[in-house]
Amino acid sequence: MTGSLQPRSPQAASIIGIPYDVNSSYLRGPALAPPLIRKALHCDSSNMWTEDGVDLGQPGVLHDAGDLELAEDAKAAFTLIEKKVGETLDLGNPLISLGGDHSVTYPELRAFHKRYRDLTILHFDAHPDLYDVLDGNRLSHACPFARSLEEGLANRLVQVGIRTMNAHQWEQAKKFHVDVISMRELARLQQLELGGSLFISLDIDVLDPAFAPGISHYEPGGMSVREVVACIQDLRVPILGADIVEYNPTRDQHEQTAMVCGKFLKEIAAAMLRNGKPPRQNWV
Ligand code: MN
Ligand code: MN
Repeated sequence: MTGSLQPRSPQAASIIGIPYDVNSSYLRGPALAPPLIRKALHCDSSNMWTEDGVDLGQPGVLHDAGDLELAEDAKAAFTLIEKKVGETLDLGNPLISLGGDHSVTYPELRAFHKRYRDLTILHFDAHPDLYDVLDGNRLSHACPFARSLEEGLANRLVQVGIRTMNAHQWEQAKKFHVDVISMRELARLQQLELGGSLFISLDIDVLDPAFAPGISHYEPGGMSVREVVACIQDLRVPILGADIVEYNPTRDQHEQTAMVCGKFLKEIAAAMLRNGKPPRQNWV
């Protein structure tokens, strides 16, 4: 199966829930996210159409693989995440995972790397998540990109919205040749050129907390919902996978952040189905 499975003009996208937050360093809660993101996606207050005119509510367009049942033990949980993400990928659809703390990206990327060899990661986050170890935990949600890059799971990592860099993580960024587009230099996004196939890792705390109170780590001065949506809509490369992580329902207000996650889910699915092509013209 190595390197051979490549969705061509995908007709459908899969979603899978990953209710796992054991590797959170500050607050737990992201394990509760998957059903609330689904509820927001299907909420009668909105509809299932994307901004460029794809009806995700049509039968067969969104395949839901359900939620994983995960033990607390990180090793067992990561093994199962890698296995189940891999099995879902083998259906041939691009895949979006919902929920979890950011540590789940590492086992996800192991599943992708077994199948795809030209991955670029586009990582939205307030935090670089490049710690070699945090609080004695090498699988912490602050470490997934250190683990992934030392294993060679991606060709390139581009980080967007970073505003908590420190000396250790800057050393790590240099060591792994990470392209860091910090919040201060967000205008550089306009010049970003991407190749290969994309995995989008979307930590909801990349947003300014004003847009998304349902997160564990409030880091003011972040992106707007529209800035993230615009970046997704501007992508012109095939997108094979994505995760929407770090949504913490215990901190949310009126499920406002769940609706933001639902919005991102819709626009990422639309970008996957466009398969590198521009959004439809003559549509609102
Ligand atoms: Mn993160
Ligand atoms: Mn973060």
